[in-house]
Amino acid sequence: MGTSIPVVVIRGRKPGPVLALVSGAHGTEYASIIALEELIQKLEPKEISGTVIIVPLVNIPSFQQKVPHVNPVDHKSMNRFYPGKQDGTQTERASWLITKEVVNKCDYLIDLHGGDLDESLRPYSYWSKTADEKMNATTRGMVLAFGLDHIIIVTDRPTDANASRYLESTASTRGKPAITAEAGYSGTSEPEDVAALVNGSENVMRYLHMLSGDAKAVENPVWISKVDTILSGQDGIFYPSVRRGTYVEKGMKVGFVTDYFGNVIEEARAPASGVVLYICGVPSMKKADTVANIGEVGAAP
Ligand SMILES: [Zn+2]
Repeated sequence: MGTSIPVVVIRGRKPGPVLALVSGAHGTEYASIIALEELIQKLEPKEISGTVIIVPLVNIPSFQQKVPHVNPVDHKSMNRFYPGKQDGTQTERASWLITKEVVNKCDYLIDLHGGDLDESLRPYSYWSKTADEKMNATTRGMVLAFGLDHIIIVTDRPTDANASRYLESTASTRGKPAITAEAGYSGTSEPEDVAALVNGSENVMRYLHMLSGDAKAVENPVWISKVDTILSGQDGIFYPSVRRGTYVEKGMKVGFVTDYFGNVIEEARAPASGVVLYICGVPSMKKADTVANIGEVGAAP
């Protein structure tokens, strides 16, 4: 089955680099999609040095059918099958096309996400440390300019360009500095989350000298050195005990699961001290599904 993906190319009046902004790989991470819709309307060619490629909604079937995490056509996540395949399933073909037409044609890339329908998430960015120190310096500048005050340091992204899996690593393994940023949660598109993603993208454009003005970097962000995922051991009904963004101590209860009669069958506890990056935002719980992600605070890199 075919699909079509909306793309906007804004060519600035002055020369400069090509920045790709992509969202909606997960079509119910609404704040990220609304943020790029806003930027499409807001960005003016006369104010831009360089070119901006905007792909606001990669996964239209997910958006239309309100299916989180995957493309309902082939049940694949649209941020796990890069660089894609020309003769694969719909997700693989779309990923192949995005690699060819967006990643290969840009100099820098930002992939926008957020908490999905079932994820109550506090905003954060990812900064990937690669073997390329020059690229790391650029992406560090980008992620600080983006401005979110919690930044996850990632050291295990794929290094093979032919098995890059994520959009961000598809760009970085092709020599293009890239970051991922997340804001929004549980089907909402709150103005402050949308604004964080719009302002962050514009400020990275200032950092890259594509827009005029100073790119003020976030000061003293919280750097997350390790993310612990708490999985449910049971099917049942989930009740959170803490909120997104809460700082928890190792061993603290973050929620519990009951059977369908209300009997507690499992308590979920933090495996380490840290910040609740996201917690399951709905009562539906299935064995091996994510209860919460806890970010352990590390040193500034
Ligand atoms: Zn996502």
